[in-house]
Amino acid sequence: MTRRLEGKTALVTGAGSGIGRAVAIAFAREGARVIVSDVNVAGGEATVAAIQKQGGETRFIRCDISKSSEVEALVRGTVEAFGRLDCAVNNAGIAGLMAPTGDYPEDAWDQVIATNLKGAWLCMKQEIQQMLKQGGGSIVSTASVAGLVGIQMAPAYVAAKHGLVGLTKAAALDYAKANIRINAVCPGVVRTPMVTVSTDQSKELEAALMAAEPVGRMAQPEEIAEAVVWLSSGAASFITGAALPVDGGFVAQ
Ligand code: NAD
Repeated sequence: MTRRLEGKTALVTGAGSGIGRAVAIAFAREGARVIVSDVNVAGGEATVAAIQKQGGETRFIRCDISKSSEVEALVRGTVEAFGRLDCAVNNAGIAGLMAPTGDYPEDAWDQVIATNLKGAWLCMKQEIQQMLKQGGGSIVSTASVAGLVGIQMAPAYVAAKHGLVGLTKAAALDYAKANIRINAVCPGVVRTPMVTVSTDQSKELEAALMAAEPVGRMAQPEEIAEAVVWLSSGAASFITGAALPVDGGFVAQ
């Protein structure tokens, strides 16, 4: 069977855990050379080891996406390592603390926006500049169902993910004629450390999260990765500016 990303060069942020790790592994399986990036070195190196075990070509570059100098170095390092950047996945993100809007601490708000919105834009900015030089590419950001509908007790996260969906649309229009497709995936509840850090403490919370999903279960990270592979591949050649729910029906309710 033809591999869907054969010969492509990819960059995945937040690839040291959860969805990003699943995306990096799926990209390598589909033939891409993958730069694994994360602020967490041990997590990133574990992803690299998993890709190498299946025979893939990969390297780790540490980067905090909220720091513009580190993001510049990340994209520069990607091009130095593999010559170009075809498929970028801006996936790194944090949940932030849970509190109602009127009580939300300002420092927690700033941290969530700096990572989930500004960080994704800093990455996009550098990726676009490289893709313009080489004549095209694909960018997929991991937004959330919280980028499409409101969620209680998460005002900064919801604002950042709505912002990321808006940024995706704006950037897609800016580069529609430049052969750069820019899309987002909007996962529902996915069984990753972002969620299990809480559900491992509370079976009631786990049951409530599963009940919130029309399909009655959480997604596995690999199910989100499949959508990202497809959006990044030539099969999605006429799709740009889209925010694709991958959510077990969550936003259809
Ligand atoms: P995760 O916590 O397992 O992985 C997130 C990764 O991002 C971690 O490895 C972390 O080190 C990295 N990261 C955090 N801040 C960073 C920074 N400043 N610079 C670089 N890396 C950083 O969580 P996940 O569930 O895999 O989340 C991945 C993305 O998916 C996030 O953007 C998240 O908001 C989104 N998402 C998750 C869910 C879910 O239910 N798990 C649902 C919708 C959207």
